Amino acid sequence: MPKQTVIGNWKMHGSIGQIRSVVPELLRAGLGANVALCVAYPYLALAKSMLSEAESAIQLGAQDVCEYHIGAYTGEVSAGMLADVGCEMVIVGHSERRRYFGETSETAARKVRATLDAGLLPVYCVGETLKQRDEGIARDIIAEELQVLAGVPTSLYAVAYEPSWAVGTGIAATPEQIAEMHAFIKKTLDVRTRVLYGGSVKGDNAAQVLAVDGVDGVLVGGAALSATEFLEICHEAA
Ligand code: PEP
Repeated sequence: MPKQTVIGNWKMHGSIGQIRSVVPELLRAGLGANVALCVAYPYLALAKSMLSEAESAIQLGAQDVCEYHIGAYTGEVSAGMLADVGCEMVIVGHSERRRYFGETSETAARKVRATLDAGLLPVYCVGETLKQRDEGIARDIIAEELQVLAGVPTSLYAVAYEPSWAVGTGIAATPEQIAEMHAFIKKTLDVRTRVLYGGSVKGDNAAQVLAVDGVDGVLVGGAALSATEFLEICHEAA
């Protein structure tokens, strides 16, 4: 069994100074290839050079990507460019992109394909809102979000189950809710698909989340900005 994955999503936080202070702490801890850091575009090259210089196995990822390969798309960043600066993975379809930037599952599916074309691993995010959960349609929503990837071999991407009501709220899903949804996603795709949980994972609940059946890792937002807390989470990965 591969080690559980821990991906840190810095979102639109950080600075050169913060990269220079946090990354060395992660390097000192000797983290392996099961850990990834997704910093904002401008900091990818710096983070990569620090990881490479230390010959670290920690992976580098981006938080989004353009669905197109090349061309007159001002402001966009292609998957090929991300590969060029040393990224190994891309978070696609994050709930914040869906909520604040109107990203649809169809767009996300094109981004997944563009990511694969560049030889990178897409980490495709799915999850329901609180209203959808209360209406009893959480599984239908997840099924719809997964449906757009029909035809893409399930071994080529990972899924992050991130209920939007748990992302950045401090209220993580319960172990029972996580277990149920991970089982559903694996049943829908393939039992071997890597499914990560994301949503208010912190140092003090990481062990409980990572112990849930069917959890192959975690996608961590806010808690990834503190080296101490992120390391606590990484150390719980089995
Ligand atoms: C995320 O950004 O994917 C996330 C899960 O955020 P947080 O850990 O802050 O809830």
